[in-house]
Amino acid sequence: MDAVIVGSGPNGLAAAITLARAGRTVLVREGQPTVGGGMRTMELTLPGFRHDLCSSVHPLAAGSPFLRTLPLAAHGFELLHPEACLAHPFDDGSAVLLVRSVDATAAALGEDAAAYRRLFAPLAGRWNDLAEEILRPFRIPRRPVLMGSFGWSALRSARGLALGRFAGARARALFAGIAAHSCLPLTHAASAAFGLVLGAAAHAVGWPVVRGGTQRLADALSAHLATLGGRLLTDAPVRSLDELPPSAAVLCDVTPRQLLAIAPGLPEGYRRWLERFRYGPGVFKMDWALEAPVPWKAPECLRAATVHLGGTLEEIAVSEQAAWNGAVAERPFVILVQPTLVDPSRAPEGRHTLWAYCHVPHGSDADMSARIEAQIERFAPGFSARILARRAQPPAELARHNENLVGGDINGGAANLLQLVARPTPRAPYTTPRRHLYLCSASTPPGGGVHGMCGHLAARTALERSFGGR
Ligand SMILES: Cc1cc2nc3c(=O)[nH]c(=O)nc-3n(C[C@H](O)[C@H](O)[C@H](O)COP(=O)(O)OP(=O)(O)OC[C@H]3O[C@@H](n4cnc5c(N)ncnc54)[C@H](O)[C@@H]3O)c2cc1C
Repeated sequence: MDAVIVGSGPNGLAAAITLARAGRTVLVREGQPTVGGGMRTMELTLPGFRHDLCSSVHPLAAGSPFLRTLPLAAHGFELLHPEACLAHPFDDGSAVLLVRSVDATAAALGEDAAAYRRLFAPLAGRWNDLAEEILRPFRIPRRPVLMGSFGWSALRSARGLALGRFAGARARALFAGIAAHSCLPLTHAASAAFGLVLGAAAHAVGWPVVRGGTQRLADALSAHLATLGGRLLTDAPVRSLDELPPSAAVLCDVTPRQLLAIAPGLPEGYRRWLERFRYGPGVFKMDWALEAPVPWKAPECLRAATVHLGGTLEEIAVSEQAAWNGAVAERPFVILVQPTLVDPSRAPEGRHTLWAYCHVPHGSDADMSARIEAQIERFAPGFSARILARRAQPPAELARHNENLVGGDINGGAANLLQLVARPTPRAPYTTPRRHLYLCSASTPPGGGVHGMCGHLAARTALERSFGGR
């Protein structure tokens, strides 16, 4: 055996595929009964209603320099694009839509049309170059002009950038909602980065969902790995690396806390770095089976799969700050996905699934169900009457399905400035003090999201260091 990979999330599978493509024999050990980590789809409410357990919307998969090199369509993987990437409704019954065209999106922002175009057109127009630069460890940029202008804005706080660039409440709120995917307070340095990257990705590659559910991506990656000779075991948790079969390299799709638990004998200094690694707020996730689509006050919300519920920049900022500070927001910012509008295959005919979460303090056991449903009801009166069944998953429940979701943190650790540069420690990316042991999860660069880049680049590092560059 050349390499064992612990964990079958997008990064574990990307690492396994990269090694197998280089001719290495690989074994993936997955602790859960099903493959995919954050890419699984299950009947969480009623029979016939298939819900994405974790990730649902895939700008980063669509824009991943690694995933797009794989023959995944041959294994049944297909991205479905809603007419609009994102809808952001307001209390007056109107909504802003982010559509693929920068110009069309800008045109709906009135006084901020020109500012929106200036911000996003250059980034969206050069998405492939931008993705090559940012979906990897921090380095001196190969495209200094592009990265200079991106970095200048990305290092700002989301609030600072939104207030500085836009005059109107609608453009400010739209940007704040996208930036809030960072799980950082919107006043923190570099919280603007997520807003810029996910906004640019929306225009360049879309915010699609996977036909049949995100599980299909996990299944396609696993099928491709099998064609390369890779082996995958489920229901096979690794409690100590000492129990693994002999191999030339081990790559762990786990976060620092789990590495500490399963890797005995790591040097004290390195252990201390891992212990100091900062996890971010958790998420409280909900899924519903619905008898009909959400009755939005602003009907254009039915044109998008993703809807951001938080009204103004100010309200979103209060909600994100609360989760970071250990408090629960009365009116939480809710990220909502209505996949069956684009993919009816996930529910019985005429019925719908709905997916949503809000950020909560790390490890919080607060029940946010009523507050999340109140936010939906606020923008869609009559929503509650359409609910056939619901399932709520607080952080502890999410972590039971996937140990990597420590305290409910979905990004493998906070995406603050320090941990963007040194993730999870200042060592050479992906390496550990144990020569042939590597980390390849979202706790390594470039961080959270379904893009596989952490796993792919960790495997390339392993090929260099443990297999003489091949
Ligand atoms: C509710 C939620 C919503 C999200 N929404 C999106 C979204 O819409 N779009 C997006 O791009 N991203 C989204 N994400 C984030 C995304 O899912 C993660 O960033 C991504 O899955 C991280 O990939 P990974 O391979 O590093 O880890 P994971 O996908 O977490 O996979 C880790 C795997 O390792 C296994 N494992 C851990 N420890 C062991 C062990 N000791 N032995 C054996 N196996 C082990 C786990 O069971 C798991 O299968 C979401 C996440 C959550 C939880």
